[in-house]
Amino acid sequence: MKNIIFIAAPGAGKGTQSMMLSERYNYLHVSTGDLVREEIATGSERGLAIKEIISHGSLVNDDIIFDLLDVKLKASNQAKGIIFDGFPRNLEQAKRYDQIYGKNEMDIDYVIHIDIDKDEAMKRILGRLICSKCGSIYNEYYDKFNNQNHCNSCDSTLDKRVDDNEVTFGRRFDVYLEETKPLIDYYKEQNLLYTVKASDNKEDVFKEIESIIKG
Ligand code: AMP
Repeated sequence: MKNIIFIAAPGAGKGTQSMMLSERYNYLHVSTGDLVREEIATGSERGLAIKEIISHGSLVNDDIIFDLLDVKLKASNQAKGIIFDGFPRNLEQAKRYDQIYGKNEMDIDYVIHIDIDKDEAMKRILGRLICSKCGSIYNEYYDKFNNQNHCNSCDSTLDKRVDDNEVTFGRRFDVYLEETKPLIDYYKEQNLLYTVKASDNKEDVFKEIESIIKG
């Protein structure tokens, strides 16, 4: 199995790249952001508590993340690889993952850091639109639409995420710098880290990532 982690500030393109990679190679795509949004959608008490945390741009409690992750990873035994999109988000999560899963087929092979500066990341986040049906990601300022505010792939309506506003973006970016960025050194020390520059051309970024994982 080839298991890959993406580390990036909000807006750098980790969602787009990890989806492209999982479709191209038939890997299991594990987005902890999607898992917490699914939990919110159930309307459970836990979901309500998570909604409050996300709307402030803070991180969800590690125990909840591992509960959701455990369920999702049960589906991974048939997969050729796992792509982690948005996990781990802090050193504690990285170490806990290594302790629980690191000794079997689920150990980490590559960590891809997508580098982006704050202004560019904010422009992308404020313009981000997501297809309500297939999850395709667009930018209302950069992309061309066949049918305004509808997905070019499946024509469903496009939504904005509740946490994609200027105030929450600022908090999420700070959380990235304080809690997630230290992971870069953690994985560098293990010789697992590769850095690629964010670009508006997602195909170029994809090719660079492919060349890394093909070794
Ligand atoms: P994302 O879709 O990756 O941008 O995540 C959206 C939000 O979900 C984040 O701002 C956090 O509040 C929460 N979240 C996602 N993944 C994690 C994680 N691994 N640990 C803690 N909180 C997370």
